[in-house]
Amino acid sequence: MSDRVLVINAGSSSLKYSLVDASSGDAVAGGTVERIGEANGILTHRSADGEERSERRVDSHEDALGAVAEAFAKHGPSLEEAELAAIGHRVVHGGDRFADPVLIDDDLVAAVRDLVPLAPLHNPANLEGIEVARRLFPDLPQVAVFDTAFHQTLPEHAYTYAVPRSWREEHRVRRYGFHGTSHAFVSREAARVLGREPQDVNVIVLHLGNGCSAAAVAGGRSVDTSMGMTPLEGLVMGTRSGDLDPALHAHLHRQVGWSLEEIDRVLNRESGLKGMAGENDFRELTRLVDAGDEAARLAFDVYCYRVRKYVGAYYAVLGRVDAVVFTAGVGQHAAPAREASLRGLEGLGIHLDAGRNAATSGREPVVVSADDSPVAVLVVPTNEEWEIARQALTVVRR
Ligand code: ADP
Repeated sequence: MSDRVLVINAGSSSLKYSLVDASSGDAVAGGTVERIGEANGILTHRSADGEERSERRVDSHEDALGAVAEAFAKHGPSLEEAELAAIGHRVVHGGDRFADPVLIDDDLVAAVRDLVPLAPLHNPANLEGIEVARRLFPDLPQVAVFDTAFHQTLPEHAYTYAVPRSWREEHRVRRYGFHGTSHAFVSREAARVLGREPQDVNVIVLHLGNGCSAAAVAGGRSVDTSMGMTPLEGLVMGTRSGDLDPALHAHLHRQVGWSLEEIDRVLNRESGLKGMAGENDFRELTRLVDAGDEAARLAFDVYCYRVRKYVGAYYAVLGRVDAVVFTAGVGQHAAPAREASLRGLEGLGIHLDAGRNAATSGREPVVVSADDSPVAVLVVPTNEEWEIARQALTVVRR
């Protein structure tokens, strides 16, 4: 058997997949199926031979995964010859039940279903992906890797919201945190770049992609994170507001008459950078800032100010910080956002090197702080697929 794992990330209308060599991290092939449930679905398949794109009707996740299997058969590499060790599924919410990856069986499926109320948009789609893959690949071990799992080490005082006990006990209200696979991978990589063992370093990881979250990681364990019960809390994101006054829903509901559904939709889909500047793509936002657009400038400032506040907060949480680590699309590629987020933190021992910061490619891990900076600043590309593949492999080889 090889170390190759087929990683599947099933969303409500899309399915991403990647064939990963879990020992080297090489993505041998991969792609996406978009617009599941529509007549004009799009399949994009990448392999050593290049990229193949086709349009077809994709009625269901079953159809989507069938199309993926066909793409592998037609354009390669052959899944039979790849001798897959496992299929690894990204599952968004593991509640407080799953702190580790788990081999999928009927009980696991039932447990993930039980968690649907905590992630009504994500877990059902993840379940679809799991059930379809079990039908299509009945002989392969399948492993669920939870986005919340890495944060299960948060201490009680960090994950508890100050709400009545009955809310917490009866309705599972607490901070769970997300992007755990990325925070796990990146914090470990950061230790490697520093030439130290993960258990010996304290890092603040800033995952700045479409979704954004910060994590305080002490000795390899997550001790706080900015996303909460849902992914809405914390940093400003592409379309999510992040932190705001929790009384806002009640105010808008009472004073303006909007439904809770509508307010929730706007805070998740129409807020953040998009709400402030009309643009959620950071590259476009930067272009607007450079062109003198006032709204884009304000959005950029609010975004970076929020990051800075969390760096300060997690500095206090950790007591000693060895590195601040930027990752994901914005974190890896937007040098001006890194610079603006850390500006003025020299008093905390955080000294960015402007030249290094501007010169990064974002494709490999680098140090962007000054040589004499007591706290290192790193840019570390995340690789959630590799982390899922690795975790899946540890479960099947146990
Ligand atoms: P996801 O959370 O969907 O995985 P990514 O980690 O790919 O998202 O991050 C997407 C974000 O990264 C987008 O806002 C995109 O504009 C931004 N981004 C990607 N490349 C660059 C770049 N070169 N400069 C600035 N922003 C970038």
